[in-house]
Amino acid sequence: MRISFEHITHRFTNESVLQDINLEIDRGEIVCIIGPSGSGKTTLLRIAAGLERVQNGRILLNDLLLANSELHPPPEERSIGLVFQDHVLFPHKTVSENVGFGLRNVREKERLHKIALGLESMRVVDVSDRYPQTLSGGQQQRVALVRALITEPSVMLLDEPFASVDVPLRKQLREDARKQLKANDTATLIVTHDPEEAMALADRVAVLVDGKLVQTGTPKELWYSPKHPFIAKTLSGLQTLRGKVQGPRLRTAFGDLSLSLINGRDKLRENDRAEIGIRPEKVSLAPSESPCFVRDIRFFGQKYVVFIQGDRDTLELHFEKEPSIRIGEKVKLNLASAQATLLNIE
Ligand code: ADP
Ligand code: MG
Repeated sequence: MRISFEHITHRFTNESVLQDINLEIDRGEIVCIIGPSGSGKTTLLRIAAGLERVQNGRILLNDLLLANSELHPPPEERSIGLVFQDHVLFPHKTVSENVGFGLRNVREKERLHKIALGLESMRVVDVSDRYPQTLSGGQQQRVALVRALITEPSVMLLDEPFASVDVPLRKQLREDARKQLKANDTATLIVTHDPEEAMALADRVAVLVDGKLVQTGTPKELWYSPKHPFIAKTLSGLQTLRGKVQGPRLRTAFGDLSLSLINGRDKLRENDRAEIGIRPEKVSLAPSESPCFVRDIRFFGQKYVVFIQGDRDTLELHFEKEPSIRIGEKVKLNLASAQATLLNIE
């Protein structure tokens, strides 16, 4: 089944929370929504689930109207699987009973088989006879996932489904969840605030900032051509810096850059203040009289990160090998090969 959001606009009292959201998720497709806290991610899912009424716009399932400001079927009539942050498991049912709840009409033998497989897939077999309140937050989340997945809904809405799962297990779980969702041909919308998770899970990523979808695209598209500073910083791994256009150059606290080396330079005019993104592994530096200095050097395993302090801003540069500079040393940056991209004119 395909789910479509068309022109969804939403307000709480006088505060605009979502503005003209248009998004379509095809069957078998996994779309991750990512955005800063308070950008409206949960609200969008609640509207689709029927926990919040549509105010403006509409939601379609396979081109048929599911909900608009007049039509509001209750959540249980929407054939949509839900896992929300405040995952509510039935407190007086065991894990197995919770998971089997959606399979009440399935023959017992098949039901038990499916429950066993589901618990196995999310690695919670060993707690099958326990009650929810005796489980950790992460275990509860996994049980809630199994309970939603087991009925093989054609649409799934997941709100930060792995948020309380410990990091080592989280990666494994999202791979398991992706495999299962693909096998079921489910149209899936997952909210996450973890950029790495979005890149790893999603066929497409939708980026929500201040209630607006600022860009929707494949992880590759977002990595190579971010259209918003938030995307550049979080998903594309770029460093951002500001500067002022003066003649043929952008003057920044970290040195000057010829405009001819900035992607999207055509929009720049004299005296514009611009924000650009640069690849942190593409900048070289050398000791020199300069307003910038090395504030810190950290070893991150695959790379060394050098923190450059310039005026008020800090820039992080990445090096494969240990750089031959010292903390406190004044340095000059070579931004020419930084693959600079214009992100914003202020
Ligand atoms: P996110 O999930 O992206 O963090 P939310 O969708 O939860 O964001 O919230 C978006 C904005 O709407 C926030 O400013 C939040 O405070 C506000 N909000 C959410 N739910 C309600 C509500 N029921 N009543 C009033 N304001 C709300
Ligand atoms: Mg939220």
